[in-house]
Amino acid sequence: MPQRVVILGSTGSIGRQTLEVIEHHPGRFEVVGLVAGRRVDRLAEQVRRHRPRAVAVADAAAAAELRRELVGHPVEVRVGAQGAAEVAVGTGADVCVAAIVGAAGLLPTLAAAGAGLRVALANKEALVAAGELMVRAARDGGARLLPVDSEHNAIHQCLRAGEPREVRRLVLTASGGPFRGRTRAQLERVTSAEALNHPTWSMGPKITVDSATLMNKGLEVIEAHWLFDLPGSAIDVLIHPQSTVHSMVEFRDGSFLAQLGSADMRHPIQYALTWPERWDGASRRFDLASLGSLTFEPPDRQAFPCLDLAYQALAAGGDAPARLNAANEVAVAAFLEGRVGFLDVPRIVAAVLEAAPVRPVGELADVLEADRAARVAARDVIERELSHP
Ligand code: NAD
Ligand code: MG
Repeated sequence: MPQRVVILGSTGSIGRQTLEVIEHHPGRFEVVGLVAGRRVDRLAEQVRRHRPRAVAVADAAAAAELRRELVGHPVEVRVGAQGAAEVAVGTGADVCVAAIVGAAGLLPTLAAAGAGLRVALANKEALVAAGELMVRAARDGGARLLPVDSEHNAIHQCLRAGEPREVRRLVLTASGGPFRGRTRAQLERVTSAEALNHPTWSMGPKITVDSATLMNKGLEVIEAHWLFDLPGSAIDVLIHPQSTVHSMVEFRDGSFLAQLGSADMRHPIQYALTWPERWDGASRRFDLASLGSLTFEPPDRQAFPCLDLAYQALAAGGDAPARLNAANEVAVAAFLEGRVGFLDVPRIVAAVLEAAPVRPVGELADVLEADRAARVAARDVIERELSHP
């Protein structure tokens, strides 16, 4: 029996690489559902090729366009976050690859976890915003969360060597992004084009900017907290420009285990789909000898304050991570549009975190309200303080 797969965010970087992995193993997977935002042309092509039962897109306009593209094709087209959740749980899938970018992926990912599907999780923002709910939904639904994010995937692999109580700390590696080594003064003037030029990974625009600010690593610290049930004080970050050691675990006896490989997301995607088995790889082979040396250095926390903002939000708990994430999404979008500068991103996030007290998160409505209010607050900071007409 092939494994039935639904892909949330199928037209993005992770979504397309997931389809590459699936095509690399003919007969072993069946694509039953696809969800995308507004890239209708690309989605239509995927539908013709993989023949899913149902698809969803972000809004009614995209749905109308998709139906026109697919006249005569037997596929159900749904709309919005609710439609995406229906595709996730209503197509008989065994696995849900959660690869929508941002908190937009929260609802369908939560639905997949609650329905007991295996969730191959790339959409870290969903876990950052609603970690407690996601972990609870997975536990109650009997779902397994398998990390696609390369660092967490690496840690998942390393943890197969020991028991949770034997772990002293996790070490997440970070490439350092395109601005590693720059001073704050230099960072004031960098452009979005420079930020989008990542040295080692090829990814969607939002995560590429997050990698440049180190917010990506901050989000990953919070992600690691929920996935591996460790406090922020037991999760460290190390800059490793070669992106070869994808992360490490330090055990209580001082032994380190690291996972190494090429910077190719098809590896963690395939691992999350096939675990606990290992299959022949769809990803690039790599050769340590040709690499020469691997280097490590501490992150520059003054030049890249987003990292500590994420640690602070994790320590504050409640709705602070959801507000951190939402403010960052608004700030990154404004930076990509050229409306604010690079260092305004941490300024906006800090201002939004400071603007309201931390509230507890008991249910989904609390997260959605925190997300909404933080977006309003972030836009307000941009309008009042940062827009240079
Ligand atoms: P991307 O921008 O390339 O793709 C995003 C996908 O989400 C697209 O298919 C888009 O259509 C869809 N989408 C956006 N808004 C939507 C909405 N409202 N409704 C439905 N679909 C919507 O992003 P990406 O690089 O593939 O990243 C996806 C997720 O994976 C992010 O959370 C990112 O942090 C994480 N991730 C990515 C990588 C990578 O190598 N690209 C690595 C680790 C983690
Ligand atoms: Mg990562």
